[in-house]
Amino acid sequence: MSRPSSVDRRNFLRTSAAVTAGAAVAALPAHALAEPTTPLGPRPQSTDEALQRLVEGNRRFAGGQPVGMRRDLARVADLADGQSPFAAILSCADSRVPPELLFDQGFGDVFTVRVAGNVAGTEEVASLEYSVGVLGSMVLMVLGHSSCGAVSAAMKGGPVPGQISALYSHITPHITDAGSDIGHAVRDNVRAQARVISTSSPVIREAVASGRLIVVGAVYDLKTGTVDLLDRG
Ligand SMILES: [Zn+2]
Repeated sequence: MSRPSSVDRRNFLRTSAAVTAGAAVAALPAHALAEPTTPLGPRPQSTDEALQRLVEGNRRFAGGQPVGMRRDLARVADLADGQSPFAAILSCADSRVPPELLFDQGFGDVFTVRVAGNVAGTEEVASLEYSVGVLGSMVLMVLGHSSCGAVSAAMKGGPVPGQISALYSHITPHITDAGSDIGHAVRDNVRAQARVISTSSPVIREAVASGRLIVVGAVYDLKTGTVDLLDRG
C-alpha cells in the first residue's frame, strides 16, 4: 500500500492540453457559457483545470489565505436560473469537513454529496450522476478525512444506536487489510467508494471514457487543513 502523495500543482499541469475546451463546453447547459469572470477565473474548461482549481483552493485555505469569492447575494442571484458546478464531491458529513470552505469555493462551484463515511450508496451515486451527466461536472472527488468516526465505528463493529450500523455494510468489506490503522482504513475506504461509483454507474464510466470526467480520491487532514490526493492503490 503506497502512501498518499502531497498535492503538487506540477502533477496536474502536465496533461492540461489533453482535453479540448470546445468539447467540454459543448456538453454544458447554455447558462454555463455566461459564467461571469472573477479574480478566480471563469469556469474551468477541462478536467485538469477543474482539478487544479480544487488544488489551488485548498492551498489558499490551508495557507490561511482563502479569498472567499462568490459568496455574496449577487452570485446567488446569478445562479437562480441554473447551475454548472465544475466539480462533484462525495464527502463525509462530519462538521469539520465542509468542501466549499476547505477548497475555498463559492456558490455554484461544487456539487457536494455528504454522508457519514463518504459511502457510495444508491442515492449518493444517483446524485453524483446528476452532477456529472446533467450539470457537466468535470472532476468527481471522493473525499475522506483523518480520524473519521464512521470508518472507526465500522472497524470496531460494535453495537451503535438506531440505524448507524447501516453504514457498516458499505465500509467494512473494504477495510479488511487495514488492521487497526485508521489512516489506512480511511484511504482504502475512499478508493473503494470510488470503485463502487465507477462500477455501478454507466453514466460515470462513459464520462470518464470520453475524457469529460476524472474520478479522484483524496483525504483531508483535520489538523493541517490540507487535502492529499490518493493514487489508485
Ligand atoms: Zn467522517
